Amino acid sequence: MEYKELIEKESKYLMQTYRRKPVYLVSGKGSYVYDDAGNKYLDLVAGIAVNTLGYAHPKLTAAVETAVKTLHHTSNLFYTRPQVELAQKLVENSPFDRVFFANSGAEAVEGAIKLARKYWWQKGEEKYEIISAVNSFHGRTMGALSATGQEKYQKPFRPLVPGFVYVPYNDLNALEKALTSKTAAVILEPVQGESGVNPADPAYLQKVAELCREKNILLIFDEVQTGVGRTGKLFAFEHFGVVPDIITLAKGLAGGVPIGAVLAKEEVAKAFEPGDHASTFGGNPLACTAALAVLEEVLAPGFLEEVLDKGKLFYSLLVDAPGIKEVRGYGLMLGIELNFPGAGRVSDILLAKGVLINNIGEWILRIVPPLIITREEIREASEKILLAVKEAGTDGAL
Ligand code: PMP
Repeated sequence: MEYKELIEKESKYLMQTYRRKPVYLVSGKGSYVYDDAGNKYLDLVAGIAVNTLGYAHPKLTAAVETAVKTLHHTSNLFYTRPQVELAQKLVENSPFDRVFFANSGAEAVEGAIKLARKYWWQKGEEKYEIISAVNSFHGRTMGALSATGQEKYQKPFRPLVPGFVYVPYNDLNALEKALTSKTAAVILEPVQGESGVNPADPAYLQKVAELCREKNILLIFDEVQTGVGRTGKLFAFEHFGVVPDIITLAKGLAGGVPIGAVLAKEEVAKAFEPGDHASTFGGNPLACTAALAVLEEVLAPGFLEEVLDKGKLFYSLLVDAPGIKEVRGYGLMLGIELNFPGAGRVSDILLAKGVLINNIGEWILRIVPPLIITREEIREASEKILLAVKEAGTDGAL
């Protein structure tokens, strides 16, 4: 289908929920994607932190092919091997004991919220309030949306799920004041992704964990964006010296095959009993086989160290450059804050230069490439980013 016809049909047949860039992607290889005209783009978006192994990775491709040819889906009424093996792999490589599988980040968050509420309910305690952070993002389903501390996403969809309270991020006093006898859990992103790659202050997270332990409150980290090696550790909480009670995963876990996961310690996980929570697709053999292939690569010796190192290289090539106020983040999850409001323009210029990058508002560019990106590709991307920032800065001054 031609580009013109595609966009006509898109506007006719699809609910108009997305603002898309004018590019029609048809294939990918490694860290690059290709449009309908054969143009090549270095992909710093990666499905928004999803395509861990990039595109057409031989191991992921082979795993998915095998799953499709054997048993791609069956009901959770029956036992399947990939789901058990994936749960085992996640448990063996984390401080958690049990896993529930869903299909997306929002669904993982829903599962985590339900697990926290069930935990207190079965203890006979009236604790249901969930505290989350202002400017957090946890997803678009009603529970996850209610946890998301941003009015702009919530307003037209009220009434929200009751029992959610929002406090400023990185502010221990505010959190302490918000706690009540009904507080069930605190949910935080260790690095806020959607609101502009804002890492938590390590001392803050450590104190929040202490406070939660002291006051008998569950701590949930939403690692939908930060999990599975994105930050140079398997889980971002490892950077902060804090172990939460529950985490959520999704995006990068199966490298682009839809999946979500809730991981919890035994004491909490056992609150879920048969019939409490379920998913038709969650944990299906296709998604779990893909995730096993991704984890095999991410957990291979040296892979995560490479992510950290490549992140440092990216950082060093961009920090202190003209037009750039700050570069922040961990591993290959970086935010570039500009010192002029031209991030949209920079993103457009980069598209013309063959680089895909996501701008968050007009001040921030988010870098979340495939974790297999090479140093050479990072140099190419950085050079083009610096040129685009310069160009956009000059435009703005005219
Ligand atoms: N939590 C976080 C931290 C996220 O970044 C996102 C997606 N941007 C979600 C939840 C929701 O994930 P999904 O779009 O897969 O529902």
